[in-house]
Amino acid sequence: MSKIQMITPLVEMDGDEMTRVIWQMIKDKLLLPYIDLKTEYYDLGLKKRDETNDQITTLSANATKKYGVAVKCATITPNADRVKEYGLKEMWKSPNGTIRAILDGTVFRTPITVKGIQPCVRNWKKPITIARHAYGDIYKNTELRVTGGGKAYLSFEGEDGQVQKEEIHAFNGSGILQGVHNTDRSIESFARACFTYALSEKKDLWFGAKDTISKTYDARFRAIFDDVYEQEYREKFQVADITYFFSLIDDIVARIMKSEGGMIWACKNYDGDVMSDMVSSAFGSLAMMTSVLVSPDGVYEYEAAHGTVQRHYYKHLAGEETSTNSVATIFAWTGALKKRGELDGTEALVRFAEKLEKATLKTIASGCMTKDLALITSLKNVQVVNTEGFLDAVAAAM
Ligand code: NAP
Ligand code: MG
Repeated sequence: MSKIQMITPLVEMDGDEMTRVIWQMIKDKLLLPYIDLKTEYYDLGLKKRDETNDQITTLSANATKKYGVAVKCATITPNADRVKEYGLKEMWKSPNGTIRAILDGTVFRTPITVKGIQPCVRNWKKPITIARHAYGDIYKNTELRVTGGGKAYLSFEGEDGQVQKEEIHAFNGSGILQGVHNTDRSIESFARACFTYALSEKKDLWFGAKDTISKTYDARFRAIFDDVYEQEYREKFQVADITYFFSLIDDIVARIMKSEGGMIWACKNYDGDVMSDMVSSAFGSLAMMTSVLVSPDGVYEYEAAHGTVQRHYYKHLAGEETSTNSVATIFAWTGALKKRGELDGTEALVRFAEKLEKATLKTIASGCMTKDLALITSLKNVQVVNTEGFLDAVAAAM
């Protein structure tokens, strides 16, 4: 059988720990036998990031801008423990943060639903997509620890030399400070990405923020969403018979829990970080969630929503058997291959990606699954397989 040919390379961002192990297995067992895989490879493993003073991360993001589609493996965001563990020169920043800052855009995360895995929120009948703003707020913050009394100000010096200045707090003793920002431009493209995605998926769009407390910052998000909606999307939404709904973030959370799902939930950066973990876990597992970053200029980066599964990796290193779920990483690849195929007009690549997704879901629905899913499935006669065993079963179902 001749292999499927690719026209434009995918930007491939390799990563760390257990997901790096899975990454290679997916390529070997599920992709390379069928596709003449063309990728521009960037090793975002922590060792390489340290060797290159993290330049490799920036290079990979720029390559994504150039080619338009990337697929990324989970990566370690170093903390003090990791600096010691890997003997790092510096506590490098989160690669996802760096990539998102370069590409801008919005991250859409949707649970992968499959027969036999019921959401633990009983009334949720349809997947809930989280649309996470991927720029700014605390992910681009400046923080200070102050060790004694004094006054803190928020100040802005315009290009014309004009200064706006507000007192934040008069400290009597030690404390902490944080400065965050966002830009109208990024919020506008976030809003457009959400409205466009809602139209393309024919799903309602909900957005929550805290504009009662944050009367300038969060209020600006609300106002921009309102303006973009009124000027560009209201009529299109009416035609498509879908709605846009804004409310306070806490009210949205309460309503989501009581809903039957099916909406796109636009979240500010931090809300999206937190809520996507809640939604994915409630739908089954962190490993059953797709994630794609869509930039305003139409660049796509696909990844799994979970981390590097460190605990499993140490078991793997100790020679013990692991049962790590590879579904989200498989879907990162299929999402990227499908999009590459659509953009290049390579129908065979699109069909291959769809076939691989079907084979993955069929494997689970037949009762063959990793431990995380076996613990929550409603199916009887389940066969729990190890990391490699699951990928072999998917390959057999292809
Ligand atoms: P994690 O890797 O998502 O894993 C947390 C726990 O969730 C695991 O210990 C495991 O539970 C379960 N889990 C997650 N993915 C699973 C899978 N595919 N199959 C089965 N179980 C799965 O989060 P973490 O341990 O907090 O973070 C580890 C590293 O990942 C950190 O260095 C962090 O910086 C990084 N991280 C990267 C990304 C990214 O690149 N997108 C995102 C988040 C975190 P059990 O141990 O109970 O089996
Ligand atoms: Mg997170």
